[in-house]
Amino acid sequence: MTSNKPAGEGGKPIREKFLIFGVPRFFQEEIKEMLETLRSGWWGTGPKVLQFEKEFSKYCHSKYAVAVNSATAAMHLGLNVLGIKSGDEVITTPLTFVSTANVIIHSGAKPIFADVDKKTGNIDPKEIEKKINEKTKAIIPVHLYGRPCKMDEITALGKKYNLKIIEDAAHSTEAWYKGKKIGSISDITAFSFYVTKNIATGEGGMLVTDNKKWAETAKIRRLHGMSADAWKRYSNEGYKPYEGVYPGYKYNMIDLQASLGIHQLKRAGANSKIRDKYWQMYSRAFKQISGIIASADDGKDIIHARHLYTINLELEKLKISRNQFIDALKAENIGAGVHFTALHLHKYYRETFGFKKGDFPKAEWIGERTISLPFYPHMSEKDINDVIKAVEKLVNYYRK
Ligand SMILES: *Cc1c(COP(=O)(O)O)cnc(C)c1O
Repeated sequence: MTSNKPAGEGGKPIREKFLIFGVPRFFQEEIKEMLETLRSGWWGTGPKVLQFEKEFSKYCHSKYAVAVNSATAAMHLGLNVLGIKSGDEVITTPLTFVSTANVIIHSGAKPIFADVDKKTGNIDPKEIEKKINEKTKAIIPVHLYGRPCKMDEITALGKKYNLKIIEDAAHSTEAWYKGKKIGSISDITAFSFYVTKNIATGEGGMLVTDNKKWAETAKIRRLHGMSADAWKRYSNEGYKPYEGVYPGYKYNMIDLQASLGIHQLKRAGANSKIRDKYWQMYSRAFKQISGIIASADDGKDIIHARHLYTINLELEKLKISRNQFIDALKAENIGAGVHFTALHLHKYYRETFGFKKGDFPKAEWIGERTISLPFYPHMSEKDINDVIKAVEKLVNYYRK
C-alpha cells in the first residue's frame, strides 16, 4: 500500500485525529467575565452590552454600535430603520449565506442578485449598475471570506442613484478598505459573532452606523419597540415606565454574550497575525499545485480579514466532483466546508423567483468549485501542513 493512496480508497489517512473545520476558542478572561456576569444576576441586556458596544464602535471608527443577537438581525434591523419596505428592490450577491437575501424578503422587499467577480467572488459593481431601476432602494455588498468589496465604486453607485448601502461584514470584522476601517464607510454595517466567525459570542451581531437617529431607532426596535432605555425597567434605578412605540423585534444581545465578545475583540489583532501567517502558508503551497486555484491575492489598498481560506477546484482537470473531494478530505481526517453554493439555485429562490442555472454564471462557477479549508489561529503549523499534504495528495491522485 503506497502512502499516496487516498484514505477513501483504502490508503492511510494523513492524520490520525480528525481536524475540525472550525472551533471557537476562549481563555481565562472569558471564563472570569462570564462568571462575574452570572453572579451579578444581570444576564440580559445590560452594562456588559453597553461596554461591548462602546469598544466595538471605537474599534470600527464609527460613532454608534448596536449589539444584537446575529448579523442576520443586524441586517434586517438595518433595512427596517432605513425604511426599506414592500415594493422596494434590494441588490445583493448570489454568492453569500442565505440570510443576506432572506432579510430582504423579511423587510417586504425583493432580492435582486448581481453577479460576482470570478477571481474574488465579491459582487461586481458593473453588474450592480445593470440591475438598478426606479424600485431599487439599497445595496447589500458582502465582503466575501474577509476581502472588502470595491467600496469606492459601490459608494459612487449609492450616491448616483440615491441608494442606501448596508454592508454584510459577517466575514470581515478586521478588514480595511483604502485606509478606512470596515464599519466606517457605509450607511450601516452588520457584523457577526456566530460560533465560527473570527470573533465569537455563540450567537451575536453588531449594527454599526454614524447616524444617530438610525442607531437610536435600531436600539428601540431591537427590543420589542419599547421606548428608550426600557432594558433598565427592572434595574436598581427603580421601575421605569415604558410603552410600545413600534412593533419591534427580539434582537437584543445579552450580557452573557457580551462577556465573551469584550475579550474576543481584544484578541482580534493578535489572531490576525497568525491568520495572516497561515494564509501565506496555504497560498504559497496551493499556487504550486495544478488542479486547484489558490485564494486570490489581496491587491493593493485592502486589509483582508482572513476569515476563510478557500480553494477552487479546476474540475476540468480532475476526475472527481467538489463534494467527492470534500468526502475524500474527510477520509484523510480533515473537515472542510462550502461557502457558498449560489443562492439563486436554492429551492426557495428557484421556485419563488424563477431563477435557473446560467443566470449568474460566475457565482455558479465558484459555487461548484469552492472548498473552505480549516483555518483558525489555534491550529498548529503542523495542522496547516497536514491540510496542505492532504489536498496535494488528493489532487495528485485524482488529476486526469
Ligand atoms: C455567518 C454569515 C451571516 C449570518 O451571521 P449570523 O450572525 O449567524 O446571523 C451573514 N452573512 C454571511 C456572509 C455569513 O457568513
